[in-house]
Amino acid sequence: MNVQRQKMKVVAVLPGKAGSVHLGELERPEVADIPNGRGVLVEVLRVGVDGTDKEINAAEYGEAPPGSDFLVLGHESLGRVLEVGNNVSEFRPGDLVVATVRRPGTSIYDAIGLQDMTTDDTYFERGISRRHGFLSEAYVEDADFLVLLPRSLGGVGVLLEPMTVVEKGIGQAYEIQRRLKVWRPKRAAVIGAGTVGLMAALVLRLRGLEVDSFARQRLPNLNGSLLQQIGANYISMQEETVAQRAAAKGRYDLVFECTGFSPMVFEGMTAAGKNSVLVLSSITGGTLQVDQVPADKLNLDFVLGNKVMVGTVNAGRDAFEAGVRDLIHAEAAYPGWLAKLLTHPVKGLENWPQLFEALNGGKGVIKAFCEVNSL
Ligand code: BGC
Ligand code: ZN
Repeated sequence: MNVQRQKMKVVAVLPGKAGSVHLGELERPEVADIPNGRGVLVEVLRVGVDGTDKEINAAEYGEAPPGSDFLVLGHESLGRVLEVGNNVSEFRPGDLVVATVRRPGTSIYDAIGLQDMTTDDTYFERGISRRHGFLSEAYVEDADFLVLLPRSLGGVGVLLEPMTVVEKGIGQAYEIQRRLKVWRPKRAAVIGAGTVGLMAALVLRLRGLEVDSFARQRLPNLNGSLLQQIGANYISMQEETVAQRAAAKGRYDLVFECTGFSPMVFEGMTAAGKNSVLVLSSITGGTLQVDQVPADKLNLDFVLGNKVMVGTVNAGRDAFEAGVRDLIHAEAAYPGWLAKLLTHPVKGLENWPQLFEALNGGKGVIKAFCEVNSL
């Protein structure tokens, strides 16, 4: 017998149609939707939004799941377990969980759980590509793709997914630098001071590095003062460029680029010292070209300095677990700091327009998020 399922509210777009974000409906999921008893039904508590959601609504990318003409948005989640399948022993009702974003495709990396390293051209990312996201009242997921969050982190848990993007990039940098046997990084440059830039500076400060954070705006501004509160130096590039700073104070052991503006990569290349690593994380979907790149000089420097440049996207389970540890560490080292990033709470899915206003509004906005259900 086919019982009609209850409906729930979702925030969705029609992929390919700009400005199509709307409040929609979807059937409520059930634990049994996931085969093998590995299903976990999760009540959504909070969902953060970022530039990706804005770009999907601008129809720059984003794809609906097969058989659907809409895509539920939202990839930065925090939820509470409602019910688990027969073969789930790692979660219990009441647990706080965060879902990873990317789901396996077909490459060998996907087969061993490293779908963030897939070589496939087709991606499956919840809330982004071919899989519904979390801006809904509930979702069901295979336990393999959920990460347990200590209850004490509930208040800042919605920051875990953006944190993992940083954890993966920095984790990759350290992994690569094992080539040097005795790498002892002292100075880092973070180019960009948006949410990712703030978190990159945080993670590097927690690792004991001296951090120079670069952004356009002059002080005083909110992000600059937040960076100063964790002991990072905030530098407005209108006053001193990354290259100028490196020339004056010495080049960097690690450079993390997250401005979203690709020409900054060349500046990062210049500012990276001998035996350094440069991490690139900006997703630049445009067609910008740069003239007069000092190709010989950049190349020579990379060769004679044994430098590495690495791109990074998405994050796997390791990065989620490192993110949980660093959120705990951050609460201990800089109490209350993370909560200051949660600048724009929006209560209820039906108030989604406020999320997009915050994304477009700019000033004073660090993280806008929907409070779908109370913590
Ligand atoms: C998300 C990542 C995702 C990337 C590309 C980012 O906004 O945080 O998880 O892999 O977009 O789609
Ligand atoms: Zn994101």
